[in-house]
Amino acid sequence: MLIDTHAHLNDLKFDPDRDAVIRNAFQVGVQKIIEIADGYQEWINALTLCRKYPGHLFCAWGFHPHHALLWQDSFVEILRKNLDSPLIVAIGEIGIDYAKSEAPPHIQQRTLRKMIELANDMSKPLVLHCREGQPPTKAHEDLFHLLEKYWKPKFVNKRLHGVLHCFSGTTVEAARAISLKLALGVDGPVTYPKNDRLREALFSAGLDKIVLETDSPYLPPQSIRGQRNDPSRIREIAQALAALFKISPEEVASQTTKNAQELLELPR
Ligand SMILES: [Zn+2]
Ligand SMILES: [Zn+2]
Repeated sequence: MLIDTHAHLNDLKFDPDRDAVIRNAFQVGVQKIIEIADGYQEWINALTLCRKYPGHLFCAWGFHPHHALLWQDSFVEILRKNLDSPLIVAIGEIGIDYAKSEAPPHIQQRTLRKMIELANDMSKPLVLHCREGQPPTKAHEDLFHLLEKYWKPKFVNKRLHGVLHCFSGTTVEAARAISLKLALGVDGPVTYPKNDRLREALFSAGLDKIVLETDSPYLPPQSIRGQRNDPSRIREIAQALAALFKISPEEVASQTTKNAQELLELPR
């Protein structure tokens, strides 16, 4: 039993066969999927999709750094009114992206701070996005700095307070994420032969800090590179982690599912 903690199933790439893709994922052992609605226009669509698959599909509402230039303060009220829904299990994805976002750093940081302050009032974990640009930028540094300064999560007894999705940092960055009680979201890149540095960082973090995700339709694992990714591929990610930690894929599934259940407070 596996949980895909990060997918974009409302992406246009799934328009031809969305329901078949979801049913296929359930058939191969994916029990739950978290649909990430990362912009105002996707929020309601995500809820609609979740209602089609009760008990199996949940969503997160956030505002991606790619859209930071479109941020309006009035969104806070809309989020506040809806975030009590048991179908919305997290706030995200939100974060910093110095690779692809057209929004300048200070605009991205301002939007992120608004979302962190909203999260302080609501008891929901965060789904965080962080990407460095070229030449080396300080996306992780800026993200951690804002979280350390402004994030005051209420759930004091929880082991994990959020997830740094598509973790792509170093061993040092993994340790800093863990000190913020963030889980590391692991997806397709862990299967790429060149990514030894990533595997080292994940190994140092330990399996009890890891959740699985596909980021579908993005980040296809090695066997389908260049193609559309989908939640059924999460098994390949579990296999890569099994090889890394020298345990069985079933053990990876059971520990990462436990982590995701705990973090997102999903029904069993
Ligand atoms: Zn992302
Ligand atoms: Zn995403």
